Amino acid sequence: MNVHRTYENEDIVVFWNSEKCFHAKRCVTGSPKTFDPSRRPWIQLGHAENPEVWQAIEQCPSGALGVAYRFGIDVRFEEDRNRSASYEGETQVGECEYQVMDGHWTIAHTGVRPEYEGRGIAKRLVYAVLEAAERRGVEVSATCSYAQRILGDTQSRRDGM
Ligand code: SF4
Repeated sequence: MNVHRTYENEDIVVFWNSEKCFHAKRCVTGSPKTFDPSRRPWIQLGHAENPEVWQAIEQCPSGALGVAYRFGIDVRFEEDRNRSASYEGETQVGECEYQVMDGHWTIAHTGVRPEYEGRGIAKRLVYAVLEAAERRGVEVSATCSYAQRILGDTQSRRDGM
C-alpha cells in the first residue's frame, strides 16, 4: 500500500512517499540517526541537526523525500469537518477539503491564503488527508488539480512511467 507521511520538528517538515522510494538508502548514509529502516517510525527528527537532514534529503534520487520549513504553521486533520486545516496560532491560513461517498474520499479543494503560498503548506494539507485515509484503509481520488498532481505523480510511478 502506498504511504504518504510527514515528520515534523519545530523547524522543518519531512515528506515521504513510499511508492517513489526504491530504497537506494542514500538518506540513510546521509543521516543514519534520522533514517533507520529497522526502526518504526523509520524517519525520526531530533537525532541530528536540521542541515544534515536537509542535505540527506537532497541526495534522495527518487523524489520520495521532500523537506520544507514549518514557518510556525500547524496542520491538523479535522475529520468532523472532512478536511485538514493549517493554522498560524489560531488563525486559519489554509485547508484541504474532501467529500465522502460510499467510503471513498475525493479531495475537492486545496487552498492557502495568498500571503502564505510558497511555504509547502498545501503539500502538508494534502499529505494530512492522504495519511488519514491510508490509516483507515480508504481509497482517495481528487478533483482538486493540486491534489491530482500529488496523486498523479504516484500513479505514474505505479504505471512504470
Ligand atoms: S534515498 Fe530516497 S529512494 Fe533511497 S531509501 Fe531514502 S527515501 Fe528511499
